[in-house]
Amino acid sequence: MGRGAAVTAGRRTAPGGDDAFHRAWRAGLTTEQVLDEIWELRAGDHDYADGTVFNSICSEPLDPARQVFAEHLAANMGDHRIFPSLPRATALVTRMLGDLLGAPDAGGVPTSGATEANLLAVLAAVRRHTGSGRPRVLLARNAHFSFEKIVALLPVEPVWVPLDDRYRAEPAAYRRALATRPALAVLTTGTSECGAVDAVDTLAPYAASHGVPVHIDGATGGFLVPFARELGHPLPGTGLTTEGVVSVSVDPHKYGGAPIPSGHLLVRDPAWLAPLRSASHYRGAADHFGLLGTRSGAALLATYAVLRRQGRAGYRADAAEVFRLRDRTLELLARAGLRSAFPPELMVVGVACPDPEAVQAEMERRGFIVSVSRRFGFVRLVVHLHQTERQLARLVDELADAVREVAP
Ligand SMILES: *Cc1c(COP(=O)(O)O)cnc(C)c1O
Repeated sequence: MGRGAAVTAGRRTAPGGDDAFHRAWRAGLTTEQVLDEIWELRAGDHDYADGTVFNSICSEPLDPARQVFAEHLAANMGDHRIFPSLPRATALVTRMLGDLLGAPDAGGVPTSGATEANLLAVLAAVRRHTGSGRPRVLLARNAHFSFEKIVALLPVEPVWVPLDDRYRAEPAAYRRALATRPALAVLTTGTSECGAVDAVDTLAPYAASHGVPVHIDGATGGFLVPFARELGHPLPGTGLTTEGVVSVSVDPHKYGGAPIPSGHLLVRDPAWLAPLRSASHYRGAADHFGLLGTRSGAALLATYAVLRRQGRAGYRADAAEVFRLRDRTLELLARAGLRSAFPPELMVVGVACPDPEAVQAEMERRGFIVSVSRRFGFVRLVVHLHQTERQLARLVDELADAVREVAP
């Protein structure tokens, strides 16, 4: 990416710190010098458009995100008195995302991403818990690693459920664990590691029959799963209206084309947010429902803009394209004699090969970024809208070479 020059700023550190970098910082630089330095810093970065990024669930923001983000950078989510537009934008974004997930009258909280949204879902369960002892939270082993942070932070007892051979929550084990009545059960629609979609359509109603509320982590699948059935890909129906589901995390900054940081917690019943309310100490200031305080409203406004621009129809077309590129990738892999590690449900394709970590390193030497699932042992490719069919064909050629090179 960028304008060539090697990264120099920041490297010239001499003992005592009295080097050119620090001297320049003390005096200040011109805008032009600074802008050049930024491009120097970024000289080694990849560009989503250049056909080398095959590990990323995030992508280039869609129009008009850049313009809106830049124009409204100073809007502060922490001050609704100066910026009454932001609670209005929150309500409108919530209406659109709720509609996407089948509940146009849902409640919602904009967040920095699904890590924060998942944390809020668990925090609400902690605060609703009236029983003695720590509330139990049911998690399958495919739960995103944000839940490892969350169970370390909050006073909950995680109950871990094993996976089936497609990396989904194992239904019989999950049912048995539900029967012990945890305070919250978490399911995932579109795991980041495998794109696996848990059986929400049967497990959530079963949870409801035991009085257990279900939170869905739809960070990745939120913009894909709603269209899967109508596009001919049979996946469990996973709306906010599925019986038993009380909340869903979605990440507009993943397959929604919004700029980072943009996540959202949606709740079926707006009253479900009540336990998350933190009252402000200042007269007239808004109560907080999220974890963060001061932050720019630019991402929320840009999310609003992208959602309006795209419409449900735009996301349906994008989802169709993701599924098409994924199926093309599977064909290309088969033609190159590479074996897919599992039948993919969403956008992650796994390639089974000896020594995946060495293959990843070899691909990096060739300039391509792919990743590896360490615990399941496959090369992980994430199909996204910044890729073209030609770029995928080139990737698969390089991958086939790399696999031969590593294990001839
Ligand atoms: C990305 C992701 C998260 C974490 O979201 P952030 O936006 O990175 O905070 C949680 N769950 C799933 C399934 C994800 O894909």
